[in-house]
Formats: sequence, C-alpha cells, structure tokens
Amino acid sequence: MKAAVIHEYGGPLAIEELPVRPLDQYEILVKVISCGVCHTDLHACNGDWPVKSKMPLIPGHEAIGLVAAMGDDVKSVKEGDVVGVPWLYSACGCCEFCLTGWETLCYEQQNGGYSVNGGFAEYVIADSRYVAHFPSHVNFSEMAPIICAGVTVYKGLKETEVSAGEWVAISGIGGLGHLGVQYAKAMGFQVAAIDISNEKLEMARKLGADIIVNALEHDPGDFLKKQTGGMHGVLVTAVTPVAFSQGLSALRRKGTLSLNGLPPGSFDLPIFDTVLNRITVRGSIVGTRKDMQEAIEFAVEGKVRAQVTPAKLEDINELFGKMTKGEIEARIVLEISGS
Ligand code: NAD
Ligand code: ZN
Ligand code: ZN
Repeated sequence: MKAAVIHEYGGPLAIEELPVRPLDQYEILVKVISCGVCHTDLHACNGDWPVKSKMPLIPGHEAIGLVAAMGDDVKSVKEGDVVGVPWLYSACGCCEFCLTGWETLCYEQQNGGYSVNGGFAEYVIADSRYVAHFPSHVNFSEMAPIICAGVTVYKGLKETEVSAGEWVAISGIGGLGHLGVQYAKAMGFQVAAIDISNEKLEMARKLGADIIVNALEHDPGDFLKKQTGGMHGVLVTAVTPVAFSQGLSALRRKGTLSLNGLPPGSFDLPIFDTVLNRITVRGSIVGTRKDMQEAIEFAVEGKVRAQVTPAKLEDINELFGKMTKGEIEARIVLEISGS
C-alpha cells in the first residue's frame, strides 16, 4: 500500500510503498477513502509534545473508509461497513477510566497516527471495538473531520457546562473551531468567535457566530465583556498560548474555560481572580465512543457540516507548511481512494 511516512521529527514525509501486516483477533483492515489533516498531525511530526509520537510514523487520525478484511473475533462490524479510525485507537477496557465511560483517559490507550500508524495511507489497521460507525450513504470527505475535530469540539463544548441561551466563545476558527461554531449553535448557545484572521472570522459569521472579534485588533476579554457581560464558557482551540489567557479574561463569573488547543507552552492563571470569580479551567481530550456517536449524529442530520478542501496524499509536506503559517481555511481532507 501507498502511505505518507515520517522518519524523524521535523523531517519531510515520504510517499512509500509498504506491506500490510496480518490482523489480530479484534482488528480490521480499513480501505481509506479520505483522511482529514489535523493540527495534531503537525505536532506529531514536529515532536512538539512531552509524550512523543513513534517514529517512523504514518500520521492521520481522521480516516474514513470501508472495512476490507476482519480478524477472527470481530463482531461489531462487517465487510463493506463505513468506519472512522480515530485518535482513541484502543484502550484497556478494564481500568477505572474505561469502566466509568472515560476511556479517553486510559493509561493503556493507543493513539491513531501517533503511537500506532494512522490514516495517511491506502489502508489502515484499526481496533474494531473503537472505530466510529457511519451510515453507508455519507459524504466521506465531509465526515472525515468529525472523527477528530468534530467530536473534540463537541466534547469540549459539553465540558464548558454552558446551557442553551448562554454565551460561549470559540477561540481559533480553524479545523476544530469552524465545527465548534456550528456545534455550539446547534446546541442552542449564543456564539462569539475569536481568531486573528478576518477571513476565518467571516467564515465563522457565515456559519452562525453572533459576534466575531479579531484578537489582533481588540482585546477579546474587554470586547466581549462590553458586548455581552462576559462568556459563560470559552472553548480554546487556538494554537498560541496567549489565546488561553485571552479566553480566560473573556469569562464572566462562574465561567468555564475548556482547553482543546495543544500548543507547546503554558499560560498564567491569576489565583485571586480565579478564586473570587469561581472560574473553572478544564482540559478536554477528544471524546469517548459515546461522544463520537452523538457528534456523528449532528453531522449526519446536517446540523453541522465540515467545510473541506480536497488534497492528495502527495501534497502533505506543502499542506503542513501552510498549516504552520496559519494559512489553511477550515479542514483539508486527503482524498486517497475512490469509494
Ligand atoms: P488549525 O491550524 O486548523 O486552527 C488553528 C486556528 O487557531 C487557526 O484558525 C488560527 O488562525 C487560530 N489562531 C492562532 N493564533 C490565535 C490567537 N492568538 N487567537 C485566536 N486564534 C488563533 O488547527 P486545528 O486542527 O483546529 O487544531 C487546533 C489545536 O487543537 C491544535 O493544537 C491541535 O493539536 C489541538 N487538538 C486537540 C484535540 C484535543 O482532543 N484536545 C483534538 C484535536 C486537535
Ligand atoms: Zn486531531
Ligand atoms: Zn483503560
């Protein structure tokens, strides 16, 4: 099979021909139709995080495709089913987190396109017990981004504990954020969008944002507090630490800052304000299999729709260059095989 492979952090990806290994009992072979390109893939290839990705690596954790072969004990899918191969590639199933529906926190978890090979390839092996399930009639390229970006912002929004009618801000209107605006509207929230690009903010407006603010032109905290009294929740998907401080300052009392973005670094948490204003700061990592089902439901019903630009596997180095400069609009999806 053809795959995009990286051999060293910061290095370019090479298009290589690789064998497909035999399947274990619960594994399936998925013929990849499309795979979205997440900013996490870029972090993985750069070795940005304290926990490093394996090398060499086939990145990609937004692959959607067809079940092409199955291990002996696979029960939950059949050949030809449409499945997604997510970041939460597998977990132990037995620990305190797995037992309480928090398999995203399992210490034994494997991560697609990070600790195991992912979807920038013609075929990817998946654990049948952890794949995302889609109906057969879906638009593959529009569904691919739901497998990471969609479920991540959906879960991140739930973690703000904002209620219908209340204000939530989405900071960073990229692959995650443009879906975040749509999920937030579909969940009944009033939505503010924060970015540093006017084009991205215009897109947010078209996707339903009630207020937009360019963080290079206004202080988002001052601006949003003046307009609304402050946000009940802020979901930060941005890739710069300053956006986290700005998000914090946009909260009203009792507000929650939900962290999705993963730039290397940290930000200051003022103790006095956090205590006196009863602020909650909460990390949020992708979503469980149940969150995935719900996130897919919104997309299948047409309540959220990923804005996608198709690209080829061979374009990946150029795409990462553009992503580094913040020049990608919404989501790029690699179209790998015809369905
Ligand atoms: P992206 O490159 O598509 O989007 C990032 C956006 O942030 C861009 O629109 C950019 O203009 C904007 N931005 C940059 N600086 C900003 C600032 N100061 N204020 C506001 N906006 C700013 O990236 P993506 O694929 O959406 O991923 C975003 C981040 O989320 C990455 O760090 C990625 O690793 C992380 N991520 C986390 C999870 C999770 O489970 N927590 C899942 C997927 C991705
Ligand atoms: Zn991702
Ligand atoms: Zn576990």
